[in-house]
Amino acid sequence: MLNRNLIGGEWIAAHAATVNSSPSDTSDIVGEYASADTQDVENAIEAAANAFPAWSRTTPEFRSDILDRAGNEIIARQDEIGRVLAREEGKTLPEAIGETVRAGRIFKYFAGEALRLEGERLDSVRSGIEVELIREPEGVIGIITPWNFPIAIPAWKIAPALAHGNTVVFKPAELVPGCAWIITDILARAGIPAGVFNLVMGKGSVVGDAIVKSNRVRAVSFTGSVATGRRIGIGCMERGKKVQLELGGKNPLIIAADADLDVAVNVAINGSYFSTGQRCTASSRLVVDDSIHDVFVERMVAAMSRLKVDNALKAGVDVGPVASSSQLAQDLAYIDLGRKEGAKLAFGGEPLQLDTEGYFLQPALFIETDNTMRINREEIFGPVASVIRVRDYEEAVAVANDTEFGLASGICTTSLKLTSDFKRRSQAGMVMVNVPTAGVDYHVPFGGRKASSYGAREQGKHAREFYTALKTVYIRP
Ligand code: NAD
Repeated sequence: MLNRNLIGGEWIAAHAATVNSSPSDTSDIVGEYASADTQDVENAIEAAANAFPAWSRTTPEFRSDILDRAGNEIIARQDEIGRVLAREEGKTLPEAIGETVRAGRIFKYFAGEALRLEGERLDSVRSGIEVELIREPEGVIGIITPWNFPIAIPAWKIAPALAHGNTVVFKPAELVPGCAWIITDILARAGIPAGVFNLVMGKGSVVGDAIVKSNRVRAVSFTGSVATGRRIGIGCMERGKKVQLELGGKNPLIIAADADLDVAVNVAINGSYFSTGQRCTASSRLVVDDSIHDVFVERMVAAMSRLKVDNALKAGVDVGPVASSSQLAQDLAYIDLGRKEGAKLAFGGEPLQLDTEGYFLQPALFIETDNTMRINREEIFGPVASVIRVRDYEEAVAVANDTEFGLASGICTTSLKLTSDFKRRSQAGMVMVNVPTAGVDYHVPFGGRKASSYGAREQGKHAREFYTALKTVYIRP
Protein backbone atom coordinates (compact mmCIF):
# COMPACT_ATOMS: atom_id res chain seq x y z
CA MET A 1 0.00 0.00 0.00
CA LEU A 2 2.87 2.41 0.73
CA ASN A 3 3.74 2.39 -2.95
CA ARG A 4 0.36 3.91 -3.79
CA ASN A 5 -0.94 7.46 -3.96
CA LEU A 6 -4.51 8.37 -3.05
CA ILE A 7 -6.14 9.75 -6.20
CA GLY A 8 -9.90 10.21 -6.55
CA GLY A 9 -10.56 8.02 -3.52
CA GLU A 10 -8.52 5.05 -4.86
CA TRP A 11 -5.08 3.92 -3.80
CA ILE A 12 -3.30 4.02 -7.16
CA ALA A 13 0.03 2.26 -7.76
CA ALA A 14 2.76 4.47 -9.22
CA HIS A 15 5.18 3.49 -11.98
CA ALA A 16 8.18 4.32 -9.79
CA ALA A 17 9.08 4.11 -6.10
CA THR A 18 11.60 5.66 -3.71
CA VAL A 19 13.23 3.93 -0.78
CA ASN A 20 12.80 5.84 2.47
CA SER A 21 15.68 5.10 4.86
CA SER A 22 16.47 6.46 8.31
CA PRO A 23 19.14 9.16 8.74
CA SER A 24 19.91 7.59 12.14
CA ASP A 25 20.70 4.23 10.55
CA THR A 26 20.79 4.02 6.78
CA SER A 27 20.17 0.24 6.94
CA ASP A 28 16.78 0.92 8.59
CA ILE A 29 14.31 1.07 5.68
CA VAL A 30 11.09 2.86 6.62
CA GLY A 31 9.40 1.76 3.40
CA GLU A 32 9.22 1.98 -0.38
CA TYR A 33 6.91 4.78 -1.36
CA ALA A 34 5.20 5.75 -4.60
CA SER A 35 6.77 8.36 -6.84
CA ALA A 36 4.07 9.95 -8.98
CA ASP A 37 4.41 11.11 -12.59
CA THR A 38 2.69 14.08 -14.23
CA GLN A 39 -0.28 11.93 -15.35
CA ASP A 40 -0.91 10.95 -11.71
CA VAL A 41 -0.87 14.63 -10.78
CA GLU A 42 -3.29 15.50 -13.58
CA ASN A 43 -5.61 12.73 -12.39
CA ALA A 44 -5.41 13.99 -8.79
CA ILE A 45 -6.19 17.56 -9.85
CA GLU A 46 -9.08 16.37 -12.01
CA ALA A 47 -10.48 14.38 -9.07
CA ALA A 48 -10.12 17.35 -6.73
CA ALA A 49 -11.82 19.67 -9.23
CA ASN A 50 -14.71 17.24 -9.71
CA ALA A 51 -15.13 16.76 -5.96
CA PHE A 52 -15.13 20.49 -5.19
CA PRO A 53 -18.79 21.47 -5.94
CA ALA A 54 -20.28 18.85 -3.62
CA TRP A 55 -17.65 19.20 -0.87
CA SER A 56 -17.93 22.98 -0.81
CA ARG A 57 -21.67 22.60 -0.15
CA THR A 58 -21.34 20.10 2.72
CA THR A 59 -22.37 21.38 6.12
CA PRO A 60 -19.62 22.73 8.38
CA GLU A 61 -20.58 20.01 10.86
CA PHE A 62 -19.92 17.29 8.28
CA ARG A 63 -16.43 18.64 7.60
CA SER A 64 -15.80 19.28 11.28
CA ASP A 65 -16.60 15.69 12.23
CA ILE A 66 -14.12 14.29 9.68
CA LEU A 67 -11.33 16.58 10.89
CA ASP A 68 -12.11 15.78 14.52
CA ARG A 69 -12.01 12.03 13.87
CA ALA A 70 -8.67 12.43 12.06
CA GLY A 71 -7.25 14.51 14.93
CA ASN A 72 -8.37 11.97 17.52
CA GLU A 73 -6.78 9.08 15.63
CA ILE A 74 -3.48 10.94 15.20
CA ILE A 75 -3.36 11.66 18.95
CA ALA A 76 -4.37 8.10 19.87
CA ARG A 77 -1.58 6.67 17.66
CA GLN A 78 1.04 9.25 18.74
CA ASP A 79 3.69 6.69 19.79
CA GLU A 80 3.48 4.67 16.57
CA ILE A 81 3.29 7.70 14.24
CA GLY A 82 5.99 9.51 16.22
CA ARG A 83 8.24 6.50 15.70
CA VAL A 84 7.80 6.63 11.91
CA LEU A 85 8.49 10.38 12.03
CA ALA A 86 11.65 9.94 14.13
CA ARG A 87 12.85 7.17 11.82
CA GLU A 88 12.35 9.05 8.58
CA GLU A 89 13.27 12.61 9.62
CA GLY A 90 15.69 12.04 12.49
CA LYS A 91 14.30 14.22 15.25
CA THR A 92 14.31 12.48 18.63
CA LEU A 93 11.39 10.24 19.58
CA PRO A 94 10.01 12.67 22.23
CA GLU A 95 10.26 15.54 19.70
CA ALA A 96 8.56 13.39 17.05
CA ILE A 97 5.75 12.34 19.38
CA GLY A 98 5.31 15.99 20.40
CA GLU A 99 5.02 17.02 16.76
CA THR A 100 2.48 14.23 16.15
CA VAL A 101 0.30 15.36 19.04
CA ARG A 102 0.50 18.91 17.74
CA ALA A 103 -0.69 17.74 14.32
CA GLY A 104 -3.63 15.98 15.96
CA ARG A 105 -4.48 19.13 17.93
CA ILE A 106 -4.32 21.18 14.71
CA PHE A 107 -6.91 18.91 13.07
CA LYS A 108 -9.14 19.25 16.13
CA TYR A 109 -8.69 23.04 16.24
CA PHE A 110 -9.74 23.37 12.59
CA ALA A 111 -12.65 21.01 13.22
CA GLY A 112 -13.83 23.88 15.44
CA GLU A 113 -12.91 26.56 12.91
CA ALA A 114 -15.12 24.86 10.29
CA LEU A 115 -18.05 25.79 12.51
CA ARG A 116 -16.91 29.36 13.09
CA LEU A 117 -16.61 30.71 9.54
CA GLU A 118 -18.49 33.98 9.58
CA GLY A 119 -19.35 36.86 7.29
CA GLU A 120 -20.34 40.48 7.89
CA ARG A 121 -23.38 42.60 7.16
CA LEU A 122 -23.19 46.36 6.79
CA ASP A 123 -25.55 49.11 5.66
CA SER A 124 -24.54 50.55 2.31
CA VAL A 125 -23.51 54.20 1.99
CA ARG A 126 -26.40 54.34 -0.48
CA SER A 127 -29.88 54.27 1.03
CA GLY A 128 -31.96 51.12 0.78
CA ILE A 129 -29.05 48.82 0.02
CA GLU A 130 -27.43 46.21 2.25
CA VAL A 131 -23.91 44.95 1.92
CA GLU A 132 -22.74 41.45 2.86
CA LEU A 133 -19.23 40.07 3.02
CA ILE A 134 -19.17 36.33 2.46
CA ARG A 135 -16.23 33.96 2.69
CA GLU A 136 -16.18 31.09 0.23
CA PRO A 137 -13.72 28.26 -0.41
CA GLU A 138 -11.20 28.94 -3.19
CA GLY A 139 -11.43 25.58 -4.99
CA VAL A 140 -8.55 23.13 -5.53
CA ILE A 141 -5.60 23.92 -3.25
CA GLY A 142 -2.09 22.61 -3.98
CA ILE A 143 -0.11 21.93 -0.81
CA ILE A 144 3.68 21.51 -1.09
CA THR A 145 5.64 20.86 2.12
CA PRO A 146 9.26 20.49 3.34
CA TRP A 147 10.86 17.59 5.23
CA ASN A 148 11.61 19.17 8.60
CA PHE A 149 8.11 19.00 10.15
CA PRO A 150 6.68 16.03 8.23
CA ILE A 151 3.37 15.90 10.08
CA ALA A 152 2.79 19.33 11.66
CA ILE A 153 3.28 21.44 8.51
CA PRO A 154 1.04 19.24 6.33
CA ALA A 155 -1.55 19.32 9.15
CA TRP A 156 -1.55 23.12 9.43
CA LYS A 157 -2.21 23.45 5.70
CA ILE A 158 -4.52 20.46 5.04
CA ALA A 159 -6.82 21.02 8.04
CA PRO A 160 -7.79 24.65 7.28
CA ALA A 161 -8.04 23.93 3.54
CA LEU A 162 -10.59 21.17 4.18
CA ALA A 163 -12.33 22.95 7.07
CA HIS A 164 -13.24 25.86 4.80
CA GLY A 165 -14.57 23.64 2.00
CA ASN A 166 -11.62 23.39 -0.41
CA THR A 167 -10.37 20.21 -2.03
CA VAL A 168 -6.67 19.34 -1.84
CA VAL A 169 -3.79 17.91 -3.85
CA PHE A 170 -0.98 17.27 -1.37
CA LYS A 171 2.69 16.80 -2.33
CA PRO A 172 5.00 16.07 0.63
CA ALA A 173 8.81 16.33 0.55
CA GLU A 174 10.59 13.32 -0.95
CA LEU A 175 12.50 12.60 2.29
CA VAL A 176 9.39 12.09 4.41
CA PRO A 177 6.62 10.19 2.61
CA GLY A 178 5.87 8.05 5.69
CA CYS A 179 4.00 10.67 7.71
CA ALA A 180 2.23 11.96 4.58
CA TRP A 181 0.96 8.46 3.82
CA ILE A 182 -0.28 8.00 7.39
CA ILE A 183 -2.20 11.31 7.41
CA THR A 184 -3.79 10.35 4.09
CA ASP A 185 -4.77 6.90 5.31
CA ILE A 186 -6.29 8.42 8.46
CA LEU A 187 -8.27 11.03 6.50
CA ALA A 188 -9.53 8.39 4.07
CA ARG A 189 -10.80 6.25 6.93
CA ALA A 190 -12.20 9.31 8.75
CA GLY A 191 -14.74 9.55 5.92
CA ILE A 192 -13.31 12.13 3.51
CA PRO A 193 -15.30 11.73 0.25
CA ALA A 194 -13.49 10.47 -2.86
CA GLY A 195 -11.42 13.15 -4.60
CA VAL A 196 -11.63 15.73 -1.79
CA PHE A 197 -8.15 14.90 -0.55
CA ASN A 198 -5.47 13.50 -2.87
CA LEU A 199 -1.91 12.44 -2.09
CA VAL A 200 0.76 12.58 -4.81
CA MET A 201 4.18 11.67 -3.42
CA GLY A 202 7.10 12.32 -5.73
CA LYS A 203 9.72 14.74 -6.96
CA GLY A 204 9.35 18.51 -6.60
CA SER A 205 10.50 19.11 -10.16
CA VAL A 206 7.80 16.74 -11.47
CA VAL A 207 4.85 16.65 -9.05
CA GLY A 208 5.29 20.10 -7.45
CA ASP A 209 5.88 21.71 -10.82
CA ALA A 210 2.75 20.13 -12.33
CA ILE A 211 0.65 21.42 -9.41
CA VAL A 212 1.98 24.96 -9.86
CA LYS A 213 1.41 24.87 -13.63
CA SER A 214 -2.11 23.44 -13.59
CA ASN A 215 -4.81 25.95 -14.42
CA ARG A 216 -7.30 23.99 -12.31
CA VAL A 217 -5.38 24.57 -9.06
CA ARG A 218 -6.64 27.87 -7.62
CA ALA A 219 -4.11 28.39 -4.86
CA VAL A 220 -0.77 26.97 -3.69
CA SER A 221 0.42 26.89 -0.09
CA PHE A 222 4.16 26.22 0.06
CA THR A 223 6.70 25.85 2.86
CA GLY A 224 10.34 25.30 2.00
CA SER A 225 13.46 27.06 0.81
CA VAL A 226 13.61 30.63 -0.49
CA ALA A 227 14.86 29.64 -3.95
CA THR A 228 12.12 27.06 -4.59
CA GLY A 229 9.47 29.26 -3.00
CA ARG A 230 10.27 32.26 -5.16
CA ARG A 231 10.17 30.12 -8.30
CA ILE A 232 6.79 28.77 -7.24
CA GLY A 233 5.57 32.26 -6.36
CA ILE A 234 6.42 33.55 -9.83
CA GLY A 235 4.83 30.48 -11.44
CA CYS A 236 1.61 31.11 -9.50
CA MET A 237 1.56 34.80 -10.27
CA GLU A 238 2.02 34.15 -14.00
CA ARG A 239 -1.08 31.96 -13.88
CA GLY A 240 -3.17 34.23 -11.64
CA LYS A 241 -3.10 31.85 -8.68
CA LYS A 242 -3.21 32.78 -5.04
CA VAL A 243 0.03 31.80 -3.29
CA GLN A 244 1.33 31.60 0.25
CA LEU A 245 5.05 31.05 0.91
CA GLU A 246 6.71 30.20 4.23
CA LEU A 247 10.46 30.24 3.64
CA GLY A 248 13.76 30.47 5.47
CA GLY A 249 15.06 32.32 8.49
CA LYS A 250 18.24 33.63 10.11
CA ASN A 251 16.70 34.24 13.46
CA PRO A 252 18.45 36.39 16.09
CA LEU A 253 18.32 35.75 19.82
CA ILE A 254 19.55 38.72 21.86
CA ILE A 255 21.11 37.93 25.22
CA ALA A 256 20.86 41.28 27.01
CA ALA A 257 23.22 42.38 29.79
CA ASP A 258 20.50 41.81 32.40
CA ALA A 259 19.45 38.33 31.16
CA ASP A 260 18.97 35.51 33.63
CA LEU A 261 21.81 33.33 32.36
CA ASP A 262 20.16 30.02 33.26
CA VAL A 263 17.15 31.03 31.18
CA ALA A 264 19.34 32.39 28.37
CA VAL A 265 21.43 29.22 28.04
CA ASN A 266 18.34 26.97 28.09
CA VAL A 267 16.57 29.14 25.53
CA ALA A 268 19.64 29.27 23.27
CA ILE A 269 20.36 25.53 23.47
CA ASN A 270 16.76 24.68 22.71
CA GLY A 271 16.37 27.26 19.92
CA SER A 272 19.69 26.55 18.24
CA TYR A 273 20.11 22.79 18.51
CA PHE A 274 16.88 20.94 19.28
CA SER A 275 15.37 19.19 16.26
CA THR A 276 19.01 19.21 15.09
CA GLY A 277 18.71 22.95 14.37
CA GLN A 278 16.55 22.08 11.35
CA ARG A 279 13.79 24.53 12.14
CA CYS A 280 13.01 27.61 10.09
CA THR A 281 12.62 29.37 13.45
CA ALA A 282 15.96 28.14 14.89
CA SER A 283 18.14 30.71 16.72
CA SER A 284 21.13 30.78 14.39
CA ARG A 285 22.48 34.18 15.51
CA LEU A 286 23.09 34.64 19.25
CA VAL A 287 23.56 38.38 19.71
CA VAL A 288 25.32 38.71 23.06
CA ASP A 289 26.05 41.80 25.16
CA ASP A 290 29.77 42.36 25.68
CA SER A 291 29.41 42.50 29.48
CA ILE A 292 28.23 38.87 29.74
CA HIS A 293 29.75 37.47 26.54
CA ASP A 294 32.50 35.36 28.08
CA VAL A 295 30.43 33.81 30.83
CA PHE A 296 27.56 33.10 28.39
CA VAL A 297 29.93 31.35 25.94
CA GLU A 298 31.50 29.36 28.76
CA ARG A 299 28.10 28.19 29.96
CA MET A 300 26.94 27.38 26.41
CA VAL A 301 30.01 25.22 25.85
CA ALA A 302 29.39 23.42 29.15
CA ALA A 303 25.74 22.81 28.21
CA MET A 304 26.66 21.67 24.69
CA SER A 305 29.18 19.16 26.01
CA ARG A 306 26.30 17.53 27.92
CA LEU A 307 24.08 17.18 24.79
CA LYS A 308 23.79 13.57 23.71
CA VAL A 309 23.84 13.17 19.93
CA ASP A 310 22.72 9.74 18.71
CA ASN A 311 20.14 7.58 16.97
CA ALA A 312 16.76 9.37 17.21
CA LEU A 313 15.10 6.26 18.62
CA LYS A 314 17.45 5.80 21.58
CA ALA A 315 16.31 6.92 25.04
CA GLY A 316 17.97 10.01 26.48
CA VAL A 317 19.13 11.45 23.14
CA ASP A 318 18.97 15.25 22.91
CA VAL A 319 19.94 15.75 19.27
CA GLY A 320 19.22 13.29 16.46
CA PRO A 321 21.05 13.08 13.14
CA VAL A 322 20.96 15.61 10.31
CA ALA A 323 18.11 14.63 7.96
CA SER A 324 20.10 13.62 4.88
CA SER A 325 23.59 13.24 3.44
CA SER A 326 23.14 16.36 1.32
CA GLN A 327 22.01 18.42 4.33
CA LEU A 328 25.05 17.13 6.28
CA ALA A 329 27.31 18.13 3.39
CA GLN A 330 25.73 21.62 3.41
CA ASP A 331 26.23 21.97 7.19
CA LEU A 332 29.88 20.90 6.94
CA ALA A 333 30.50 23.24 4.01
CA TYR A 334 29.18 26.17 6.09
CA ILE A 335 31.32 25.12 9.08
CA ASP A 336 34.32 25.13 6.78
CA LEU A 337 33.30 28.49 5.35
CA GLY A 338 32.91 29.94 8.87
CA ARG A 339 36.50 28.97 9.71
CA LYS A 340 37.71 30.54 6.45
CA GLU A 341 35.79 33.72 7.23
CA GLY A 342 37.74 33.99 10.50
CA ALA A 343 35.19 32.67 12.97
CA LYS A 344 36.36 30.30 15.71
CA LEU A 345 34.61 27.16 16.82
CA ALA A 346 34.02 27.28 20.59
CA PHE A 347 32.45 23.83 20.40
CA GLY A 348 31.62 20.97 18.00
CA GLY A 349 31.32 21.03 14.24
CA GLU A 350 32.72 17.53 13.62
CA PRO A 351 30.83 14.62 12.05
CA LEU A 352 30.39 11.77 14.55
CA GLN A 353 30.88 8.05 13.92
CA LEU A 354 28.41 6.19 16.18
CA ASP A 355 27.08 2.62 16.49
CA THR A 356 24.82 3.04 13.46
CA GLU A 357 25.64 4.45 10.04
CA GLY A 358 23.91 7.85 10.10
CA TYR A 359 24.40 11.56 9.45
CA PHE A 360 25.52 12.64 12.91
CA LEU A 361 27.03 16.04 13.55
CA GLN A 362 28.27 17.46 16.83
CA PRO A 363 26.33 20.73 17.41
CA ALA A 364 28.57 23.68 16.57
CA LEU A 365 28.99 27.08 18.21
CA PHE A 366 30.97 29.77 16.39
CA ILE A 367 32.42 32.75 18.29
CA GLU A 368 34.30 35.83 17.10
CA THR A 369 31.88 36.28 14.26
CA ASP A 370 30.35 39.42 12.85
CA ASN A 371 27.07 39.98 11.12
CA THR A 372 28.60 40.47 7.68
CA MET A 373 29.93 36.89 7.47
CA ARG A 374 28.05 34.55 5.16
CA ILE A 375 27.52 32.12 8.08
CA ASN A 376 25.46 34.91 9.68
CA ARG A 377 23.59 35.93 6.56
CA GLU A 378 22.63 32.62 4.89
CA GLU A 379 20.40 29.93 6.34
CA ILE A 380 22.51 26.87 7.23
CA PHE A 381 19.57 24.76 8.47
CA GLY A 382 21.59 22.56 10.81
CA PRO A 383 22.89 22.44 14.40
CA VAL A 384 25.16 25.43 13.85
CA ALA A 385 24.87 28.79 15.66
CA SER A 386 27.07 31.89 15.88
CA VAL A 387 27.73 34.27 18.72
CA ILE A 388 27.85 37.92 17.64
CA ARG A 389 29.32 40.16 20.35
CA VAL A 390 27.70 43.61 20.66
CA ARG A 391 28.50 46.71 22.74
CA ASP A 392 25.01 47.32 24.07
CA TYR A 393 21.30 46.82 23.52
CA GLU A 394 21.10 49.42 20.73
CA GLU A 395 23.71 47.59 18.68
CA ALA A 396 21.96 44.29 19.46
CA VAL A 397 18.68 45.53 17.95
CA ALA A 398 20.50 46.86 14.88
CA VAL A 399 22.27 43.50 14.36
CA ALA A 400 19.08 41.53 15.00
CA ASN A 401 17.25 43.45 12.26
CA ASP A 402 20.19 43.50 9.84
CA THR A 403 19.14 40.44 7.83
CA GLU A 404 17.16 39.76 4.69
CA PHE A 405 14.94 37.43 6.75
CA GLY A 406 12.27 38.19 9.34
CA LEU A 407 10.66 35.01 10.62
CA ALA A 408 11.28 34.88 14.39
CA SER A 409 13.39 36.86 16.84
CA GLY A 410 14.02 36.59 20.54
CA ILE A 411 15.42 38.38 23.53
CA CYS A 412 16.49 37.12 26.95
CA THR A 413 16.12 39.96 29.44
CA THR A 414 14.68 40.63 32.88
CA SER A 415 13.75 44.19 31.91
CA LEU A 416 10.21 45.20 31.05
CA LYS A 417 11.61 48.27 29.31
CA LEU A 418 13.75 46.22 26.90
CA THR A 419 10.91 43.73 26.39
CA SER A 420 8.48 46.40 25.38
CA ASP A 421 11.04 48.21 23.22
CA PHE A 422 12.20 45.07 21.40
CA LYS A 423 8.74 43.74 20.67
CA ARG A 424 8.05 46.98 18.79
CA ARG A 425 11.37 47.37 16.98
CA SER A 426 11.99 43.77 15.94
CA GLN A 427 11.38 43.30 12.22
CA ALA A 428 10.32 39.66 12.63
CA GLY A 429 6.84 38.18 12.29
CA MET A 430 7.13 36.40 15.67
CA VAL A 431 8.91 37.82 18.74
CA MET A 432 9.84 35.68 21.74
CA VAL A 433 10.84 36.98 25.17
CA ASN A 434 12.67 34.48 27.41
CA VAL A 435 11.31 31.59 25.31
CA PRO A 436 13.05 29.86 22.39
CA THR A 437 12.65 31.40 18.93
CA ALA A 438 11.46 27.97 17.78
CA GLY A 439 8.33 26.39 19.24
CA VAL A 440 4.97 28.01 18.59
CA ASP A 441 1.29 27.59 19.46
CA TYR A 442 -1.13 26.26 16.85
CA HIS A 443 -4.08 28.59 17.59
CA VAL A 444 -2.33 31.88 16.72
CA PRO A 445 -0.81 33.17 13.45
CA PHE A 446 2.53 31.83 12.25
CA GLY A 447 4.66 33.64 9.70
CA GLY A 448 7.35 36.18 9.01
CA ARG A 449 8.32 39.31 7.15
CA LYS A 450 10.89 40.25 4.50
CA ALA A 451 12.32 37.21 2.66
CA SER A 452 10.84 34.75 5.19
CA SER A 453 7.21 34.81 4.15
CA TYR A 454 4.93 35.94 1.37
CA GLY A 455 1.16 36.15 1.49
CA ALA A 456 -1.36 35.49 4.22
CA ARG A 457 -0.46 34.11 7.66
CA GLU A 458 -0.87 30.44 8.52
CA GLN A 459 -2.54 28.82 11.54
CA GLY A 460 -5.17 30.03 13.97
CA LYS A 461 -8.27 31.77 12.68
CA HIS A 462 -6.12 33.93 10.37
CA ALA A 463 -5.57 30.86 8.18
CA ARG A 464 -8.97 31.65 6.64
CA GLU A 465 -7.41 34.61 4.77
CA PHE A 466 -5.65 32.19 2.48
CA TYR A 467 -8.14 29.35 2.35
CA THR A 468 -11.20 31.47 1.57
CA ALA A 469 -12.11 34.08 -1.03
CA LEU A 470 -13.93 37.19 0.13
CA LYS A 471 -17.05 38.14 -1.82
CA THR A 472 -18.89 41.47 -1.45
CA VAL A 473 -22.62 41.32 -2.13
CA TYR A 474 -24.93 44.39 -2.61
CA ILE A 475 -28.64 43.79 -2.09
CA ARG A 476 -31.64 46.09 -2.56
CA PRO A 477 -34.30 44.08 -0.70
P1 NAD B 1 12.72 22.72 -0.58
O1 NAD B 1 12.41 24.09 -1.04
O2 NAD B 1 13.87 22.02 -1.17
O3 NAD B 1 11.47 21.77 -0.83
C1 NAD B 1 10.18 22.08 -0.33
C2 NAD B 1 9.15 21.34 -1.16
O4 NAD B 1 9.14 21.88 -2.48
C3 NAD B 1 9.41 19.85 -1.30
O5 NAD B 1 8.20 19.15 -1.24
C4 NAD B 1 10.02 19.77 -2.70
O6 NAD B 1 9.84 18.51 -3.29
C5 NAD B 1 9.21 20.83 -3.43
N1 NAD B 1 9.84 21.33 -4.67
C6 NAD B 1 11.15 21.35 -4.99
N2 NAD B 1 11.33 21.87 -6.23
C7 NAD B 1 10.09 22.21 -6.68
C8 NAD B 1 9.62 22.81 -7.89
N3 NAD B 1 10.45 23.15 -8.88
N4 NAD B 1 8.30 23.02 -8.02
C9 NAD B 1 7.45 22.70 -7.03
N5 NAD B 1 7.84 22.11 -5.86
C10 NAD B 1 9.15 21.87 -5.69
O7 NAD B 1 12.85 22.81 1.02
P2 NAD B 1 13.27 21.64 2.04
O8 NAD B 1 14.73 21.39 1.87
O9 NAD B 1 12.31 20.50 1.95
O10 NAD B 1 13.00 22.35 3.43
C11 NAD B 1 13.93 23.16 4.08
C12 NAD B 1 13.56 24.62 3.91
O11 NAD B 1 12.24 24.85 4.37
C13 NAD B 1 14.43 25.56 4.73
O12 NAD B 1 14.83 26.65 3.94
C14 NAD B 1 13.50 26.03 5.84
O13 NAD B 1 13.81 27.27 6.38
C15 NAD B 1 12.20 26.02 5.16
N6 NAD B 1 11.11 25.96 6.14
C16 NAD B 1 10.37 27.08 6.33
C17 NAD B 1 9.34 27.09 7.27
C18 NAD B 1 8.51 28.30 7.49
O14 NAD B 1 7.39 28.17 7.93
N7 NAD B 1 8.99 29.50 7.20
C19 NAD B 1 9.06 25.93 7.98
C20 NAD B 1 9.85 24.80 7.76
C21 NAD B 1 10.87 24.83 6.81
